[in-house]
Amino acid sequence: MHSSPKQPVLRIALALPLRQLFDYLPGSATVARPGMRVLVPFGRRKMVGVIVEVADKSELPLEKLAGVIAYPDGEQLVLSDETLELLRWCWRYYKHGPGEVVFNALPPLLRKAQGVIPPSPVQYALTAAGEMRLQAPPGRIKAQYRLLEEMRAGAATDSQLRAVASSWRKTLARLLEQAWVQTEMQQPAQLSPDPGPVLLDEQQFAVTAISASLGNFHCHLLDGVTGSGKTEVYLCVLEQVLRQGGQALLLVPEIGLTPQLVSRFHKRLGFEPVVTHSGLSEGQRLAAWAMAKSGLARLVIGTRSALFLPMPDLQLIILDEEHDASFKQQDGFRYSSRDVAVKRAAGLGVPVVLGTATPSLETFNNAVADRYRWHRLRQRATGAAEPRWRVLDLCQQSTQGGISSTAMEAIGETLGKGEQVLVFLNRRGYAPVILCHECGWHAACQRCDANLTWHKASNRLLCHHCDSGMRVPVMCPECNADALQGAGEGTEQLEQMLTRAYPDTPLLRFDRDTVRKKGEFDRLSQQVKAGESCLLVGTQMLAKGHHFPKVTLVVIVNLDQALYSADFRALERMGQLMVQVAGRAGRDQLPGEVILQTHYPRHEALLTLLQSGYEAFAADLSADRQAACLPPFTYQALLRSDAHNKDDVRAFLHQAKQIFPAGEAMVYGPFPAMMERRSGRTRWYLLAQADTRPLLHRQLDGWVPHLKKLPAARKVRWSVDVDPQDY
Ligand code: ADP
Ligand code: ZN
Ligand code: ZN
Repeated sequence: MHSSPKQPVLRIALALPLRQLFDYLPGSATVARPGMRVLVPFGRRKMVGVIVEVADKSELPLEKLAGVIAYPDGEQLVLSDETLELLRWCWRYYKHGPGEVVFNALPPLLRKAQGVIPPSPVQYALTAAGEMRLQAPPGRIKAQYRLLEEMRAGAATDSQLRAVASSWRKTLARLLEQAWVQTEMQQPAQLSPDPGPVLLDEQQFAVTAISASLGNFHCHLLDGVTGSGKTEVYLCVLEQVLRQGGQALLLVPEIGLTPQLVSRFHKRLGFEPVVTHSGLSEGQRLAAWAMAKSGLARLVIGTRSALFLPMPDLQLIILDEEHDASFKQQDGFRYSSRDVAVKRAAGLGVPVVLGTATPSLETFNNAVADRYRWHRLRQRATGAAEPRWRVLDLCQQSTQGGISSTAMEAIGETLGKGEQVLVFLNRRGYAPVILCHECGWHAACQRCDANLTWHKASNRLLCHHCDSGMRVPVMCPECNADALQGAGEGTEQLEQMLTRAYPDTPLLRFDRDTVRKKGEFDRLSQQVKAGESCLLVGTQMLAKGHHFPKVTLVVIVNLDQALYSADFRALERMGQLMVQVAGRAGRDQLPGEVILQTHYPRHEALLTLLQSGYEAFAADLSADRQAACLPPFTYQALLRSDAHNKDDVRAFLHQAKQIFPAGEAMVYGPFPAMMERRSGRTRWYLLAQADTRPLLHRQLDGWVPHLKKLPAARKVRWSVDVDPQDY
């Protein structure tokens, strides 16, 4: 008998919506390591995969396992051990298939077989011989000489040389041949910071505390009112990290990543941060990924998905506007980038800073419980006063296009002083519904439980949930009367009404209908910043992070829906939105005023927010949540399911409920989703809830793996949503 050397078994993640890894043999590779990409046969296809584990056995007989066809990147890794560890935690915690979790972390081009890791960027420097040659006159090698001159002051990159001559590659090859020039690895950009303002005490305390925690895991809540100088705090801590040669990651909400923000960091730090988000081309995203991986990117600013970038020297993670809903991915692999950022920082042993003027209740209570260090910035850094609130009771006011006469007067007065007014309404379109005054017919989406929004300018009725739409009928489709009218108002209507009232004042509308194209937002906001008197009308797009110094009046047209919503998070979100919108008023020298129009001026939560501020508001909401056994005092997961047929959905969820393991976590439902029908599919869910995370997860782990075997599982789509944000 002779023994053959033992074959390693590769456990590979494939981009399939399945909760499993796949076993393969290494094929021709000498060393197969976790984190390497592979090309493997799958059925009749070839698929890209990533090695997640190297095991010494398989549950399948070895002769049944196929071999890896190719290693597209050779021995280079696309995922470091650190990232793999984080991803492993992610798929266990979020109960999602490992393949989708792993592929979510790769730049789109590397999810495909054609994509390859770009070579490390290089630069070219003079050798001693090259220096000598430069001493002599150019003679007949004028083109070569020009390139040498370009390197006189220091090494030059591809793009610098390309600027000298378009045929630079050929010329450079000669220089390399002669050994006048050598190739080196590119060096990270040098830090050359501009001095910032002298910090206020509150800022300085925060900077000192965060800096003292560099090198260790600590979670910091930077709780600062808008304009209190949170960004300055980030900059000061970043400067220290960069001085030590570390890398840093700044995550911002989708809507917050503006050229102004990036140029502010550029200006202050003296080098260009690497930027990444889903609006970039695949090539640009791969380039950003490679810069991060090579360590050349000292600072990366990105949206949610940047969280998984490989950064070998990562020493600080900052999440700006931590309460923002865009940090939670709402489909597929539903993760919270805030929570995963904290997990990543813990794994690395580095601090994470969560910045906001309106902490989520989760973060707020982590700070209350001393799990997070809490830094309050309560003063506006420019010395501007907090805006003054004025509440208008809509029950006692006549309105025109949604705006009360008192608010109209205030708008007129402010414009008369040459200042700017922001009118906020979180609803685009002309009217949220169109109805017949004869028979009561109203336009509803055929595929969703929603009304169609009337867009008057484009003469269409549109569903904001599934994008289906139709032309506006001239007569009532039901009774044929000429009696169709809009009910309620949206930003398009406000624009029309205000333009009529103030024909000489420029009006800029900010919503998804007017700001479709890239760069449009910046064009509009530049105009606002120019400072001339104008009216801004917009949705929550206007609420975040923008500094419009000349806005002195903010009118909040209506937020009443949130006051009596069935969603227990509605009040929290309303408070955050109100504070964010109000923060646009009077940020500079001029004092600001905020007018809130409401039918419920005596609503308790509203009064607390206005009289005592967000912290008291958050404390009150927390007490209510605790009394009602709701998050963040309990832990939840949803089993969501949808299908064209409602019976299938309910059958599946009933079957799932029956096999929920016994224990302290309870399962409730099935319940219809808040919007039961969407895009033609019926949506229901089960709610699992427990007092602690471990209790919940123990039962989820004993449950989720069995769901696919349920008889009704094949007829529905289903997914697990841990720590859900919507229902
Ligand atoms: P936040 O991020 O909290 O909204 P910023 O960092 O953008 O606040 O600061 C608001 C404004 O105040 C900016 O124009 C900034 O340059 C200025 N600022 C910040 N800190 C100071 C300070 N210590 N002294 C003077 N101005 C400051
Ligand atoms: Zn009718
Ligand atoms: Zn629809």
